[in-house]
Amino acid sequence: MIPFNKPYMTGRELWYIAQAHANGQLSGDGMFTKKCHAWLETRTGTHKALLTHSCTAALEMAAMLAGIQPGDEVIMPSYTFVSTANAFVLRGGVPVFVDIRPDTLNIDEAKIEDAITSRTKAIVPVHYAGVACEMDTIMEIAQQHKLLVIEDAAQGIMATYKGRSLGAIGHLGAYSFHETKNIISGEGGALLINDDRIAERAEVIWEKGTNRSKFFRGEVDKYTWVDIGSSYLPSDLVAAFLLAQMEEADAITARRLHIWQFYHDQFADLEADGCLRRPIVPAECQHNAHMYYILLSSESIRAQLIARLKSEGIYSVFHYVPLHSSPMGHQVGRISGSLDVTDDISERLLRLPLWIGQDYAPQIVRAVKEALGKL
Ligand SMILES: *Cc1c(COP(=O)(O)O)cnc(C)c1O
Repeated sequence: MIPFNKPYMTGRELWYIAQAHANGQLSGDGMFTKKCHAWLETRTGTHKALLTHSCTAALEMAAMLAGIQPGDEVIMPSYTFVSTANAFVLRGGVPVFVDIRPDTLNIDEAKIEDAITSRTKAIVPVHYAGVACEMDTIMEIAQQHKLLVIEDAAQGIMATYKGRSLGAIGHLGAYSFHETKNIISGEGGALLINDDRIAERAEVIWEKGTNRSKFFRGEVDKYTWVDIGSSYLPSDLVAAFLLAQMEEADAITARRLHIWQFYHDQFADLEADGCLRRPIVPAECQHNAHMYYILLSSESIRAQLIARLKSEGIYSVFHYVPLHSSPMGHQVGRISGSLDVTDDISERLLRLPLWIGQDYAPQIVRAVKEALGKL
């Protein structure tokens, strides 16, 4: 059996958790949390990083920091995970769905301006599969229209655009450390605050709407309720686990890239034969091998391939039901322009297992080639 995902452990997670246990410091913002913040700030160049208990939580914080009010519009792809939209809907915001590019499957930057109205507050690019959106154009549009850019970089840790870390380019960025991502802590995430003007407020929202962090730094003599907020800090036990992963981030990424490249080389001839299309990574994007997907020629071929692989114990999965065609999307969202690429791609995309620990890729390549030869 080859599962779709298997979380990779470095071996040092329990040792660090034992240290947190021995320190007797279990709640958030302890020694391990601070070490993870320092790692994120050094590795990504962000001004300030805050660990959260999920990427979903980081996006919710971003929606508060953006000051989203009922009726405010937020531009995003429909081809994404629900949290990209939910974080804003929770504040009364309206997700405005824009189509994706057929090459990278990221938001089509050329279609963003048409979606802007007087109610637009933010643009949320999602870096699908750890391949960057066209950030220079997106930042330019945002600047012209005075909008915030919040990167959903859930899949983007260790990936870059023109040498800059994903998540550290927009005003705010959100990472996920869910066990299906590259660097993990079971559940987990981080908010990157790349604009100093909102760093202080981010810390307040993170600490339940209090100025507790300032108090601990000795900047105020008592702490109190100063803003809205919630409990977004993970326990230091979770941060201890995460630090072990962060310290291995280069090795983890290299091993994932190796598997990704194997698939990519092996499927070149199937692409040439017109059986499938492989992922496209623009030259200015260094990806992180978060995902290997193939685009098949129809929904029915995809369904047959999934079934055939499953019969051989190989678990492949498709991806997002586009948000604009979901029940909630219909109710709270708005569509800008045609979403033809989104509708088309979401029916034909198949994700293959990509995890570290076993040499299963040759078996999968063989099974895909054999199945497609017969379908
Ligand atoms: C995984 C993912 C999320 C959610 O991350 P959690 O840490 O599980 O909350 C959000 N957006 C995208 C694009 C994702 O892939």
